[in-house]
Amino acid sequence: MSNGILYVVATPIGNVGDLSPRAREVLSSVSLIAAEDTRHSGKLLQMIGCNTPMLSLHEHNEQHRSVELLNRLQNGVNIALISDAGTPLISDPGYGLVRELVAHGIRVVPIPGACAAIAALSVSGLSTARFVFEGFPGAKPNKRRERLRELAHESRTLVFYEAPHRLQETLADMLDAFGAQRRVALCREITKLHETCYYETIGELVKRATTDADLSRGEIVIVVEGVPEAESTAIPLAAEQVLFTLLEDLPAAQAAKLAAKLTGAPRSELYERAVKHKSAKQ
Ligand code: SAM
Repeated sequence: MSNGILYVVATPIGNVGDLSPRAREVLSSVSLIAAEDTRHSGKLLQMIGCNTPMLSLHEHNEQHRSVELLNRLQNGVNIALISDAGTPLISDPGYGLVRELVAHGIRVVPIPGACAAIAALSVSGLSTARFVFEGFPGAKPNKRRERLRELAHESRTLVFYEAPHRLQETLADMLDAFGAQRRVALCREITKLHETCYYETIGELVKRATTDADLSRGEIVIVVEGVPEAESTAIPLAAEQVLFTLLEDLPAAQAAKLAAKLTGAPRSELYERAVKHKSAKQ
């Protein structure tokens, strides 16, 4: 008997019209649907008149479910994987399962569709030539700040997911890591009634977050401009971190001189970076 196929099926992120005809067909023709939350997905399946049986696959049971699903696939059963919204595995469960199936030579077929990160990027007005998907920046303040600082010199466009209740603190941390002038597209409620995209700098968004309650309502993607290529590579990251630490207490020229002594990086470039860093913070 030949193995079954796992279909990784994207579902809408707010507008049911975004479920593709092919996704409908696959969901109705497979023998089983593995869903992140069977109650949540039950509503979508009901809406499209699909009666395929479901079982849950979420972060807490993914490991043992993967063994179970592998077994069924090896017995010729075709299965679809869906998450609550958008593309499974993208800040959603499924990676453990797909990794296991690929390792066992099971065919995994994508049924592409909505993905909030790609939808936001496509309307961000920021470079799409090269981008980095960062997912959620994290709930723990120290870790989140560290992660953002590590990205401060990334030249590719950055794409983040964020929960509404953490938006204000994350924007404040972005201000600290990226400076006030960095351009951002903040897209909320994509494909839904209150869909809005704000095209502003981080400094402007931080201010807006304190006055405009709508900004942090609903689901949010933050797309951040990367730094110009030349700036991102001229000085090693460690030297720059030394420089930024010194800048907290010293004027640009002194901080650059000291950072050059400590790290061996060129003083003129450190000075240039120090001036830019200071003006971005104002
Ligand atoms: N797998 C999904 C995808 O393909 O986009 C993402 C799942 S992740 C758990 C949920 C996050 O995606 C939300 O917190 C938000 O950051 C983003 N998101 C999902 N739907 C969205 C929408 N309609 N508008 C804006 N952001 C959305």
